[in-house]
Amino acid sequence: MTASRPEQMLKELQFQLTVTRAMLGTLDLDQVLFIILSGITHGEGLDFNRAFLFLADDAGRELRISTAVGPASEAEAHRIWEEMEERKLDLEQLLDRFETSSQHPADSLAQRMLGFTIPLTASAPPIPEDEEAPVQAIVARCAHTREPFFSNRIRAVYQPPPAEGGESLVFSHVAAIPLTRQDGVLGVILADNHYNSRQVEPDEMRGLVTLANMASIAIEKARLHSRLKEMAALDGLTGVFNRRHYEMRLQQEVARARRAGRSLALLVFDIDHFKDCNDRFGHECGDHVLKDVAQLLNARVRSEDLVARYGGEEFVVLLTGGATLEESRKVADKLRKEIESASLGGRDPGEVTISAGVASLDAGSLDGAALFRLADQALFKAKQSGRNRVETAS
Ligand code: GH3
Ligand code: MG
Ligand code: MG
Repeated sequence: MTASRPEQMLKELQFQLTVTRAMLGTLDLDQVLFIILSGITHGEGLDFNRAFLFLADDAGRELRISTAVGPASEAEAHRIWEEMEERKLDLEQLLDRFETSSQHPADSLAQRMLGFTIPLTASAPPIPEDEEAPVQAIVARCAHTREPFFSNRIRAVYQPPPAEGGESLVFSHVAAIPLTRQDGVLGVILADNHYNSRQVEPDEMRGLVTLANMASIAIEKARLHSRLKEMAALDGLTGVFNRRHYEMRLQQEVARARRAGRSLALLVFDIDHFKDCNDRFGHECGDHVLKDVAQLLNARVRSEDLVARYGGEEFVVLLTGGATLEESRKVADKLRKEIESASLGGRDPGEVTISAGVASLDAGSLDGAALFRLADQALFKAKQSGRNRVETAS
């Protein structure tokens, strides 16, 4: 590169601006990660052969592979370089292509490192001075010191755990940069030039560090956003979905069932004599009962079904697998029996019981409001005929 120094600095600034703008322009974490790694590997960017991103889990206990960008083999490297040359895809265009490139085989690189974990709690051993080192040592050292690291000498190796199988992965001409936040490490970016053996220059590290600083902010922002979205869908006391989320999902599931020509079933549960429970044992005990009932329902239904707190001591369960009325009644009755025989909120088995109304509508006559009305009428019938029982809509 023969560009004069001011010219070079201007280019660098332009690059950082392009990537920062793209990163802060989305709240989707996967897209943020794609942008970071594309910036590191694109020729107009930092021009590394490959880049890997390791992220800490929510509790900050360990680092795992999250995304990788780059060719999975030397042959693929050349094919991609030729393709880039041919199509003249500039960085800005590449960053716009997240949707199409997310299916890219490049992610097979990340697949090969699925067994990679390093604890963040233990202190990191020093990186061996000799020629070969486990790649974990470099990533761990970077995470613990929170200092960038690079080496043109070390040959770093990732050997998958025997249980996972798979070939080892070799890294050379490596750079590692920490992603930090005030109270710890968010992750580590590892980049290398394994395919063309280009030397990593000290100057490049500055570009990587600047990018990593902005990347940390973008990752935190995307994570916060997804956590907020999750929280807004949950009931604060019981941790199952709230009524607002249920109403939204009901509309979606009605549309899906109609398209698929499938029935949709709804169970409405109401705890029996719950007022007495509060009166006799206190509101706090009532709260514990509500939590335990919700958790039991949630643990027993399939992951594609939905449990929500409809209000007070009423819960709904949406069965999305096309269950008939009779099958749904069986599901409801099984749940009713389980609640009857469990110790919930510290009360003895048999003290907390529940009544249920069940409805199932065929695709042809499916309507969300009608489904709820029918199940609710059946619940009323169950209450009237003595409680701790299940009734179906006629
Ligand atoms: P039934 O068998 O007919 O359903 O009788 P019930 O006593 O359960 O019905 P009712 O609707 O009269 O009482 C519901 C009670 O649920 C009254 C209300 O104080 C209580 N409740 C509603 N939300 C909460 C809550 O978040 N925590 C507690 N502890 N109690 C709640
Ligand atoms: Mg009620
Ligand atoms: Mg009740």
